[in-house]
Amino acid sequence: MSRSAAQARLAAFLPHAGAAYTQHRNEDRGQGQHHAVSRLSAAVRRRLISEAEIAELVLGMHGYAPAAKFIAELYWRTYWKGWLEQHPSVWHDWRAECARLTEQGLPEGYAAAVEGRTGIDAFDAWARELFETGYLHNWARMQFASIWIFTLGLPWALGAAFTFRHLVDADPASNTLSWRWVAGLHTPGKVYLANAERIQVQTGGRFRAQGLTKTADVPRETSVPDLCRIREPAVPDLQAPSLLLLTPEDLSLETEVRLQGLDVRRVVACRRHCSGAADIAAVADGLQRATGHWGVAARWVDDVDAAVAVAQEDGVAQIVTGYAPVGQVADSLAAHREAIPIAEHRRAWDEQAWPYCRKGYFALAQHIPALLGTAALAPLPA
Ligand SMILES: Cc1cc2nc3c(=O)[nH]c(=O)nc-3n(C[C@H](O)[C@H](O)[C@H](O)COP(=O)(O)OP(=O)(O)OC[C@H]3O[C@@H](n4cnc5c(N)ncnc54)[C@H](O)[C@@H]3O)c2cc1C
Repeated sequence: MSRSAAQARLAAFLPHAGAAYTQHRNEDRGQGQHHAVSRLSAAVRRRLISEAEIAELVLGMHGYAPAAKFIAELYWRTYWKGWLEQHPSVWHDWRAECARLTEQGLPEGYAAAVEGRTGIDAFDAWARELFETGYLHNWARMQFASIWIFTLGLPWALGAAFTFRHLVDADPASNTLSWRWVAGLHTPGKVYLANAERIQVQTGGRFRAQGLTKTADVPRETSVPDLCRIREPAVPDLQAPSLLLLTPEDLSLETEVRLQGLDVRRVVACRRHCSGAADIAAVADGLQRATGHWGVAARWVDDVDAAVAVAQEDGVAQIVTGYAPVGQVADSLAAHREAIPIAEHRRAWDEQAWPYCRKGYFALAQHIPALLGTAALAPLPA
C-alpha cells in the first residue's frame, strides 16, 4: 500500500468511525466484507499514515465522545508498542521459544491447524482467509487464537509465529502480546475463551463451530517478563550531514515537523528489513516521497552493514531513522551502533503515551483525552 492509498482508505472510512464503528466493529461478515472496520492496520503498522493523522481527522469529523471507541482501539496499538518497549524480554523469549519448539518437532495437530483442516468450520475458514488475504478481522483473530490455544491445545508461541508470518500488518508488539492476552499470560487470571454461540451471532450465522472447549488451561510462563526503562535513542542532530534510513517502522518521516530542517544527503532502505511484497511496496513508496521532499538520491541496499558502508562512503556524520521499537529492525540496528552514530526520531505520540504503558491498558486509557489534547496531534506541515 502507498501513503496516498492509505489516505484514500481513511477518507472513505471516516464517516464510519463514530457510532457505526461502536455498534458494528465486532461483526465479522467474512472475506471482502469487513466494511465496519478501517482495514488501515497494514498502513499504520508501517506509519504510511500515523496514528496522530488518523485521530486528528476522526476527531475533526465526529468529536471525541462518538469516536471514543475507535480512538481507544487505535491506542491499543500504542499500548502494545509501549508495553513491549518496557518488557523487551517477551519478544526475545518468544523468538527463542519458537526456535526451540520447531527444533524439537512440530506438535501433532499443527499441520491441520495451519492448513485449515481441523474440522472446526470457523477456525478453518479463518486460517484460509489469513493465508489468502493476509488480513483477519480483530474479533476473528481473538477466536482463532483462543481455539488454537485452548481447544486444539497448541502452543501459543507457534500460533503467534503463524499469524506473524501471514498477516500483512504483522507487528512484533500487537501480534505477540495479543496472543499472550488471549492465552491469559498478559493479565494473570484473565483468558479469552471462544464461544460457539457468539461466533454464530457475530459472523451472521456463517459458522456452527463444533467441539470448542469450555475450560481454559493457562499455558505456563517460561520466564517472568522484566520491566525495563524505555530506551532513550540518540536524537538526530539537524545540522549534521545525514544518511536517512527508511524502515518499515516509519515510512512518513517527511511529515514530521521536527525533521523538516534535517540535512539529508541520501536516503537508503534495506532489503533485509522487508519481509514480503507489502513491505517492499510500502518502502518503495516511502523512498519516493523522501527523495522528493529532501531532493536527494535514494538507494536500496541489502542490510544495515551496507547502509553503514554507504554512510561512510558519503562521509556523513550520522544515520537518521525512525525510532525502531522492539522487533527485528531494532535487533538489526543494535549490532551497528558502534560503527557510526545512529539517531532515531521518536514521534510525540509514542513519547507521550508510552510512560503509561507499563501495566494494564486501563492505566493508559484514562489518559487518552488528555493525550489527545497535547502535541501528539501537532499540525502537519502545509
Ligand atoms: C491474536 C491477535 C493478533 C494480532 N496481531 C496484530 C498484528 O500483528 N498487527 C496489528 O496491527 N494488529 C494486530 N492485532 C490487533 C488487531 O486485530 C488489528 O490491529 C486489527 O484487526 C486491524 O484491523 P483494522 O485496521 O480494520 O482495525 P480497526 O478496527 O479499524 O482499528 C483501527 C486501528 O487501530 C489499531 N487497532 C485496532 N484494534 C487493535 C488491537 N486490538 N490491538 C492493536 N491495535 C489495534 C490498528 O492499528 C488498526 O488499524 C492482533 C489481534 C489479535 C487478537
